[in-house]
Amino acid sequence: MQKLEQVYEGKAKKVFKTDDPELYIVDYKDDATAFNGLKKGTIAGKGVINNQMTNALMRRLEKAGIPTHFVKELSERETLVKKVSIVPLEVIIRNLSAGSFAKRYGVEEGIVFDAPTIEFSYKNDELGDPLLNSYHALALKLATAEEIDTIKKYAFAVNDVLKAFWSECGVILVDFKLEFGRLSDGTIVLADEISPDTCRLWDEKTHEKLDKDRFRRDLGGVEDAYAEIMKRLLAHDAD
Ligand code: ADP
Ligand code: UDP
Repeated sequence: MQKLEQVYEGKAKKVFKTDDPELYIVDYKDDATAFNGLKKGTIAGKGVINNQMTNALMRRLEKAGIPTHFVKELSERETLVKKVSIVPLEVIIRNLSAGSFAKRYGVEEGIVFDAPTIEFSYKNDELGDPLLNSYHALALKLATAEEIDTIKKYAFAVNDVLKAFWSECGVILVDFKLEFGRLSDGTIVLADEISPDTCRLWDEKTHEKLDKDRFRRDLGGVEDAYAEIMKRLLAHDAD
């Protein structure tokens, strides 16, 4: 499958057309941004890790009955995916308090919730991805009520699968962001990526951060953290 015209270059990936109108190729970059693009940098080898991790996790989710855009890994950084029209919602699931949740509600990080939470933000860089609820999403016609129900159901199912898998790897899945899209027939599938850029992953014993917070917060050891989390995934992915 050949890359044709580039349709989009985002902060972390490029998206290309292929000769099949229903398929795209995504190409993962080492570029890293935080705080809505205010902080910029590169994380050597991140593109390879994020591509391979996303694909391993999406294969696992497909097996668990959650439909995804994943088709085939083409190279270290490139993957063939089903083209979708992205639902402009960032879907965030949390198992423990961290990041903007801790800040917004004035609580410490690391509080374990009795049940996972879900929140949406409007995927709109110009507005800084503002938080919204499902009524706002409906009012703005970002998705239908049925689509929102499906997205919520899939997002919690993703959490169940990934929380259990990361636990086998000695890792706590603190929180993560998902994006969903519509295939040409309207079917909702999981799209975009699931990686240390989009998840908070803490070592179970030490609570060491093995994700993009090392970059966001200038904690150092960014490349090593990405390599470590990938190593743990690979050690358990065959099971
Ligand atoms: P951003 O747009 O936030 O800078 P990226 O650099 O990751 O993010 O760019 C990838 C873009 O491709 C994102 O906007 C994402 O919503 C979109 N995308 C992900 N999967 C698909 C898909 N299967 N079909 C179409 N677009 C997709
Ligand atoms: N996240 C993401 N993209 C975003 C915002 C958040 O992938 O644009 C992920 C982030 O990596 C974390 C989760 O969503 O795993 C929750 O992020 P939070 O709302 O706490 O925001 P942050 O503190 O990252 O600004």
